[in-house]
Amino acid sequence: MIWPRCTNTLKISILLAGLCFGNMQSLCSAAESEGYYGELDRQVPSYWPADRRPVTVYFEPAEGVPGYRPELQALVRKAMAEWQAALGGKVVFKYAETAAGASLVVAFTDDASKMQSQDELGEAQMLHDNNGIITGRILYLTKPPSWSTTSTLTDRYFYNLALHEIGHALGVTGHSANTSDIMYYRSQVDDKREGLSAADKATIAAIYRHPTLATANNGKLVKQASTAYVGVAGQINDASKLMQQGRFVDAEQKLLAAQKAEPDNKAVANALGALYASLANFALLTRNYPLAGQYFAKSLPMLEKSGNKAGVKQLLNAYVPYLQMTKQNEMATKMMQKMQALQ
Ligand SMILES: [Zn+2]
Repeated sequence: MIWPRCTNTLKISILLAGLCFGNMQSLCSAAESEGYYGELDRQVPSYWPADRRPVTVYFEPAEGVPGYRPELQALVRKAMAEWQAALGGKVVFKYAETAAGASLVVAFTDDASKMQSQDELGEAQMLHDNNGIITGRILYLTKPPSWSTTSTLTDRYFYNLALHEIGHALGVTGHSANTSDIMYYRSQVDDKREGLSAADKATIAAIYRHPTLATANNGKLVKQASTAYVGVAGQINDASKLMQQGRFVDAEQKLLAAQKAEPDNKAVANALGALYASLANFALLTRNYPLAGQYFAKSLPMLEKSGNKAGVKQLLNAYVPYLQMTKQNEMATKMMQKMQALQ
């Protein structure tokens, strides 16, 4: 049985090799006890910060999804408990009955086209700021796709898959090179093996042991934003590459720097508007409604400033239902008027 390749798993995460910045050298030298921590991409602080724990989990209703059975949700909960134990309870998962306020959404689908990459059986998309993970969404496929060498999703197969994606959702940005680890990027799943390896446990413990990462990263971002200005077109180009890598925080820094240099530049405003619109949509997907609202509100004036009417229309098509759903009626009316004016 072939496990999905996970090349695309962390679209919304930020990836960069190496970690040992400056004063962290001494911590990093204890590599043997840190599993594959040193091999991970740790450009942003990818972990749940203390003030965003416990992690509140919401399961999207999946009854009726072909291939779904209630045991799958039970296996996800069991997998969360195994990671929680590996972390000594540092990160606790709590289950919510409603989507409101949940920080991690777990969903199931039998439609492989809903995955970012067609060769995955599961994916975790996480959104970060400089303090850590804000919100995320795990999507599991209930039916092995056509390329798979297995036709049924056995409990053990799914359990290992569940563990793998939860590892990403906890902040394992990247994969292990060792086939015996659950975070190996492509696994021969056999029915003899189950659960986290010693290296998996050491790695997650290391991720939550390094409290200075956020500070180190903040320093890095500030430095990046103040590097010599090389022209707006270059900045937009760089930002769009960063967005493709899911490095939204870095992309925003680049674009804000470009905007500072040329406040009236329409292309910069358009790129910022598009960035915030993507983040609003992602926040909606993970049901983080307050965050979605913030990004919608940031996106609209940028797109308007850019003169991108099609972009404004597209944004309003998502913004108006959001405002109605969150009962912000006055604002919804205002936005509908804007929409009509665009017709
Ligand atoms: Zn993966």
